[in-house]
Amino acid sequence: MRLLLFGPPGAGKGTQARKLVDRYDLTQIATGNIIRAAMKNETPVGLEAKSYVEKGELVPDAVVRKLAEGAIADEDYDDFILDGYPRTLQQATWLTTFLTEHDAPLNAVLSLEVPDEEIVDRLSKRRVHAETGENYHLDVNPPPDEVDDDLIIQRPDDKPETVRNRLQVYRDQTEPLKTYYKERDLLVPVNGTGTPSDVHARITEAVEAHT
Ligand code: ADP
Ligand code: ADP
Repeated sequence: MRLLLFGPPGAGKGTQARKLVDRYDLTQIATGNIIRAAMKNETPVGLEAKSYVEKGELVPDAVVRKLAEGAIADEDYDDFILDGYPRTLQQATWLTTFLTEHDAPLNAVLSLEVPDEEIVDRLSKRRVHAETGENYHLDVNPPPDEVDDDLIIQRPDDKPETVRNRLQVYRDQTEPLKTYYKERDLLVPVNGTGTPSDVHARITEAVEAHT
């Protein structure tokens, strides 16, 4: 099964990807996570990406393409869920060509639909575990008491001024991909509101209808 999870920053892609990984035994390919790991390890890609991520801009297409295609090849072109890739029309075009060349088309593009006000609330209340990358939300899914407070951090790009820029970048560069995938009969809109379990139930229904 080859899935793509699509949606604005904070829509719940990472949260839902983890649930799908458990349910269908897939590998999550999240370019944001790969980029953050590269930044932490100060690799050449990490050093190049840093200034873009910190401003809430997109990392150049050619850089992210290599990361995504490498990760897909590592999975033998199957049983993966893309989270946060592609984010531009250029990336989407490359991805279609790459998957077609390997006879590995996507089954579905699940588009998480969440109103703007809720996106801003989710991002401002998102916290992450500095070591495991586990995602929390201060109200909906607070970090458990036993986790050391010092390890619970806010992503620097979740600060309000950067969030505003990321949402604008999403509107300008990423949202047009919905039309791209609709034209290819792959787009499956999913209501992303309600509890994470509600959303998971809707997603699995959509997945089962498209595989
Ligand atoms: P979110 O899902 O909250 O938007 P991610 O963790 O997916 O955040 O991405 C964090 C940052 O990493 C993005 O703001 C961007 O700078 C960079 N990034 C991740 N994926 C891509 C991509 N496909 N193309 C360009 N930049 C990306
Ligand atoms: P994305 O990967 O799309 O940026 P995340 O999965 O990181 O999104 O979710 C963003 C924030 O919203 C996190 O704090 C997460 O715990 C929270 N969250 C995820 N799904 C829901 C939901 N259904 N309702 C409320 N909060 C949610």
